[in-house]
Parts: sequence; structure tokens; C-alpha cells
Amino acid sequence: MEFCNLKAQYQEYRSELQAAINQVLESAAFVGGPQVAEFEHKLSEFVGAEAITCANGTDALQLALIAAGIGPGDEVITTPFTFIATAEMIAMVGAKPIFCDISRRDFNIDASQISSHISERTKAILAVSLYGQCANFAELQKVSEANNLLLLEDGAQSFGATWYGQRSCGITKVATTSFFPAKPLGCYGDGGAVFTKDIHLAQALRTLRNHGQKERYRHHVVGVNSRLDTIQAAILLVKLQHYEKELTRRQQLAMQYSQALAPLENTGLIELPRTAPECSSVWAQYTLRVKNRDHLQSHLQSHGIPTAIHYPLALHLQPCFLHLGGKSGQFPVAEQASLEVLSLPMSSHLQEAEQNLVIETIFHAYN
Ligand SMILES: *Cc1c(COP(=O)(O)O)cnc(C)c1O
Repeated sequence: MEFCNLKAQYQEYRSELQAAINQVLESAAFVGGPQVAEFEHKLSEFVGAEAITCANGTDALQLALIAAGIGPGDEVITTPFTFIATAEMIAMVGAKPIFCDISRRDFNIDASQISSHISERTKAILAVSLYGQCANFAELQKVSEANNLLLLEDGAQSFGATWYGQRSCGITKVATTSFFPAKPLGCYGDGGAVFTKDIHLAQALRTLRNHGQKERYRHHVVGVNSRLDTIQAAILLVKLQHYEKELTRRQQLAMQYSQALAPLENTGLIELPRTAPECSSVWAQYTLRVKNRDHLQSHLQSHGIPTAIHYPLALHLQPCFLHLGGKSGQFPVAEQASLEVLSLPMSSHLQEAEQNLVIETIFHAYN
């Protein structure tokens, strides 16, 4: 069984994907081909904010932070329970990541604790919509407005999710996503995008991602090379057409996991993921809390069922951030999550029989 079944997805869209890729090969427009602009147009429509594509989700974060004017001397408040790239890019642009514990409810940053981390150097809050569910933007908007802070969303795992009917990446002034193959909308290599409704920021982002040039060989600012390849845009154009249907399937699979595993939750051995009423999740991951995680994970593995741990070490305890003074016990909710979380196989192409086997094997582990 595959943790994320990209092979079955390819088989289903194979002829469309091959035609799209061949078209790029024949045209030889490998960088900046028409598919890139077409994909950006479709992305913008889907999200409701202008899309600027780039080379990957990590670059998208870096570009968003630079375009927003964040750099040396600034502090950015973020979650310690995320993929490294979120805090890594804050540090990479010369700013300081300030961690704030997460909520027990949804694994996302706990907005009620943010004010205790604000200093005169604080410039922004970078929230992550983890596992496919939007962060608590109602509270985040309140605290960012009250303190005149920029609010950004790292939507690498939540592309397509909604919050009060608005799409993830279209909620905050600036947001980012990733098209890494295993993300909900993935390409066949690296890809990413930044989103904004601010036309000045959009212009700055387009310039920054292409060596700071507005016209060829005129470099207005120092930028980077971070473009989405034409082939990846062509692949994503095909996959975006199937995306709504895939999201429905992911939501159905998540509901089936939750219904089938509810009796085990009642025994207190596991805890199921919850979606807030104002949110729809894209289920980038279906993640349980498990008391005796090693036992369940090795039992599943011995039955050929892959699982994953997102993430086993909170970021304030990562070697690269220890100099910031992180201590064990500092963010108890994030630290407990890192010991308990276990993600089950999840993708739009997970088969019914496969899901049933995962569920049976979990029950078997507790017999
Ligand atoms: C995957 C991911 C990223 C980085 O995306 P890449 O395309 O792999 O660079 C950033 N933030 C989060 C939360 C992610 O899950």
C-alpha cells in the first residue's frame, strides 16, 4: 500500500498528462511558456487572489517575506509545530522566528497566546494551516489588527481548504502554497505559489522571483531565480481540473476513517482529528493522536501499512534553532503532539479495500 498513491492518480489521468507534457516538449518553451500564465490565471480564479507561481513552497515563503519587507531586526511569530521551511525562511531573510504554542483543538497556532510573544520588533504573524485545515483566522485577524502586524498564511498543506467559505491562501494579505508531489495539489517535481490581493505586492513578487527585472536585463532590485517550469504548469493545469472531485474523495475518506475509528476513540486509546465548523479541510494528512504510538506504528508496518509522523520534533528544539533559547517544556501542546501524532495513508486515490485494511489492522493492534 502507498502512503500517498500518486501512481494510481497518474494512471487515471495518464493520457491527458502525457499530451500536456508532450505539448511542452514540442514547443521547447521550457521556462515561461504560455502554460505558466494560464495556470496562474486558473489559480487566481480558484483562490480569489492573484497568484504568482515560483519554484517551490519554501521559495514562496522567502519571496513573500522579502516582498512584505521583513528582514534583519524583525521578529515573526509562528508555530513550532510545522515543517521546518516555515521558520527556516523567517531566519533565512534575516528575521527571528518567535515560536508560540499550538491549540490542542486543531494543531494550529494558538491565537490566544500570541499577545504574550509580541515585542516592539514584531512585524508579522506567519500562521500555518496544518494537515489541510485553516488556522484560526478570526482570532488571528483580531490580534494582528490590534497590534498592526502583517498576517501571512503558509498554506502548503491547505490549498483548496475553506474558512467561512473563503479559500485558503485568499484570506490573508499574503499567503503561500507548495505543489510538492505529496501535497494535496502536487506536480511532478517542485513547484509553489504566492498569493496576494495587493497589486503592489504582486508586482514586487513578480520582479523578485525573476532576478529583480521588470524588463529584460534591467535589474531594479536584487532578486532570485524562482520560477515554475512550464512542464510543471502543464501538469498542474491537468490536475487542477480534477481537483474539486479529488477533494470530495479525500473528505469522504476522512469521514469514513472517523466513523469507523470512533469506537476506539471512546476507549481513550486514540483521538481523532476534528474540523472546526467554519472550516472544510483538504485532508493533506489524516492524523491521529495515539498514546502508545510506537506500538501502533510498528503493528501497521508489519502488516504492510505505511504511516508517517508529522512532525517528530518541535521546531524550538531543532538543533538549528537551539541558539534562540528553546527549552523542553516551553511549548507543552506542540511537544505532546510531536510524541502522539500518527498520519494514516491518505490520498485521493486510496482504494476502499486499502482503507478497510488500515481500519481492521488498527483494531487488531488493540485486541
Ligand atoms: C511542504 C511544506 C513547505 C515547503 O514546501 P516545498 O515545496 O517542499 O518547498 C512549507 N511549509 C509547509 C507547512 C509544508 O508542509
